[in-house]
Amino acid sequence: MTARSRSKRGRAQGLLTRRARVGWLMALVVALPLGYGAYAARTPSSQAFGDIYVHGPRTAKIVALTFDDGPNDPYTGLILDVLKQEGVHATFFCVGMNAEREPTTVRRIAAEGNDLGNHSYHHRKRDALLDLSYDDATRTNDILRGITGAAPRLYRAPNGFHTPWSLRIVGERGLRAIAWDVESNDWDEPGANNIVMRTVERVQPGSIILLHDGDNTRLGTDRSQQVDAVRGIIQTLKARGYRFVTMSEMLGLPPTKGN
Ligand SMILES: [Zn+2]
Repeated sequence: MTARSRSKRGRAQGLLTRRARVGWLMALVVALPLGYGAYAARTPSSQAFGDIYVHGPRTAKIVALTFDDGPNDPYTGLILDVLKQEGVHATFFCVGMNAEREPTTVRRIAAEGNDLGNHSYHHRKRDALLDLSYDDATRTNDILRGITGAAPRLYRAPNGFHTPWSLRIVGERGLRAIAWDVESNDWDEPGANNIVMRTVERVQPGSIILLHDGDNTRLGTDRSQQVDAVRGIIQTLKARGYRFVTMSEMLGLPPTKGN
């Protein structure tokens, strides 16, 4: 091998290494924001794409009970019975498809002084990801307003999954996005006692507690553990000096007038 051909090969290798470096850099430039975006979308409390309430003020002993995925009778009704007996109001993030099928329960939720929130129509991540106009949220707003006469002001993303465009539509519809800071994996049915223990040990002033009265768009899923747990959570926290508020109260929103 001559000195000339050696230096030619060296130059070629150098070029290849430079190209490889640029390639890696380009891949990183694309992958990092994508990775961060995917992380933010899947993190319910992430503020990367817009304001999401994770908890209320930490200065007062107030707490908000929130239920997702209903209405789902008889369990939603049984939870409402407990709330009434305990003199407590909660917030129900309803799936539009379920609300359409059980409007009487939606009406009862509102009539008994509880808050109603929008939890999408189909309860699918892909609507927030693929539909830039996020009609799923608008559709549920229309359904809830049709049933109660009042447009909802609260939104919770299905599985906490959100995108910049889904949050933009949520804001344009006058909805505030609500996450949570206390969860017990109650959807996994760990037993009423575990739901109570996991919840009360994590509660702080201003906490937003996540529970489920339903299961996605499936009606009839047994939520009797939640019915039992709600009473335990309320009684334990009351004994510790907590007061229960709706999300509207926690956020200081004026009361709405429905049917
Ligand atoms: Zn849900």
